[in-house]
Amino acid sequence: MQYLYTLDQDSIRELDDILSTDLVAKIYAQAHSSYPDECCGLLLKQGIRPCTNILNDLHKADPLTYPRNAAEGFVFSSEDALFLSKNINSDNPVKIIYHSHPDVGAYFSDEDKQNALFDGEPIYPVDHLVIDVQSSGVVCSKLFRFINGDYKLIAILPGNNDK
Ligand SMILES: [Zn+2]
Repeated sequence: MQYLYTLDQDSIRELDDILSTDLVAKIYAQAHSSYPDECCGLLLKQGIRPCTNILNDLHKADPLTYPRNAAEGFVFSSEDALFLSKNINSDNPVKIIYHSHPDVGAYFSDEDKQNALFDGEPIYPVDHLVIDVQSSGVVCSKLFRFINGDYKLIAILPGNNDK
């Protein structure tokens, strides 16, 4: 993977085997086909698991509890959430949780932090990839890691919308 930015070489060395150009292309295709909704999924030590964003269903069923729709957030299906919680100690663990941000840029939002943390500590020992997707394709994606009490940008990956 050719990065547009890395915080330092040590941070991404371990991820180089995981973030293959091929898998990132698949993630970008999912982000584009889900547009204008957010997509979500899991990048494992080997392979990916594209997940189902059920926020539209939740929003329709209970708009008071779920004021956002799938264009503004994501919630894993119960199957995906169960897979994530059970898989983390397996021999092919989840390394990265990814989701897309349609038209608003790639950043780790307050909502994203709330979902990733419990009592100020990460629920899962994973990094987070946020994909900046527009109708023309993916602009770039940004990888965030919990370092010293907050999520820090550790790498920027090139997009595919200039091709
Ligand atoms: Zn987000």
